[in-house]
Amino acid sequence: MVKAEIVAKKRFGQNFLKDEVVLEKIIKSIPNDNTPICEIGAGLGDLTRKLLELSRVIAFEIDRELFEILSREFAKEIGEKRLEIILCDVLDLWRENLHEKPYRLVANLPYYVATNIILKALKDSNCKELVVMIQKEVALKFCAKRGDRNFCALSVLVESAGEAEMLFDVPPSSFEPEPKVFSSVIRVRKRAELESSEDFERFLRVAFASPRKKLSKSLSQRYSKERISELFLELGIDDRSRAHEIPTILYHQIYNSLR
Ligand code: SAM
Repeated sequence: MVKAEIVAKKRFGQNFLKDEVVLEKIIKSIPNDNTPICEIGAGLGDLTRKLLELSRVIAFEIDRELFEILSREFAKEIGEKRLEIILCDVLDLWRENLHEKPYRLVANLPYYVATNIILKALKDSNCKELVVMIQKEVALKFCAKRGDRNFCALSVLVESAGEAEMLFDVPPSSFEPEPKVFSSVIRVRKRAELESSEDFERFLRVAFASPRKKLSKSLSQRYSKERISELFLELGIDDRSRAHEIPTILYHQIYNSLR
């Protein structure tokens, strides 16, 4: 079998999911409502094959060798137009929308670009839901709620676009080759978005730059102290608050007033 000869390429973050139980758990977390599925990084096609039982799939793969194997293995599904495989670096190809119709993003994401891919998907108005596997440490950040130790700029960005939840953890032994870290599958349900521009992202980086410092102190790196004090008073924010104690909606209000 060709698959056995494949050597995983580290530079593309290739850790193939080989655990049938985990594959089934991912599939069970996806509503069977016929929404087209975009899969980023089809790899050897194990998840792709299961996704095809749910809906039409548009798969993106950066590795030409894998793309050729997938094209042969799934020739029938491609012929029937149930599957489209696109050879590309998905971040190069992705402009405003990854797909022209509403879609669900389902993927075992390559760690090295997982955060960027999620941030792109949050901004893509056609992406209605994400069910993605990422490094557990990053998953905890995306899913953190206000007051949690992990609440950070990523948590604010995800809450601005929808609601994130941790579904389950996946141990390194479920992959080939085994990664050094645990993974988690998370779900993000999108809803009406609060605008998150690149400038808002930059503002959040300033706000969360020193989590132990008071937020007012971090913000004074970029804005006038007087203006911040005035604004905190107006918005009823305690001047001693740390960045992780402020809710998402207030971040938008602070940003909109300061910009
Ligand atoms: N879906 C497969 C599975 O679950 O076993 C493979 C997952 S593996 C963690 C990540 C996959 O994403 C690899 O097949 C890799 O080649 C592909 N990939 C990495 N970077 C990519 C990029 N920028 N655009 C598209 N695919 C990418």
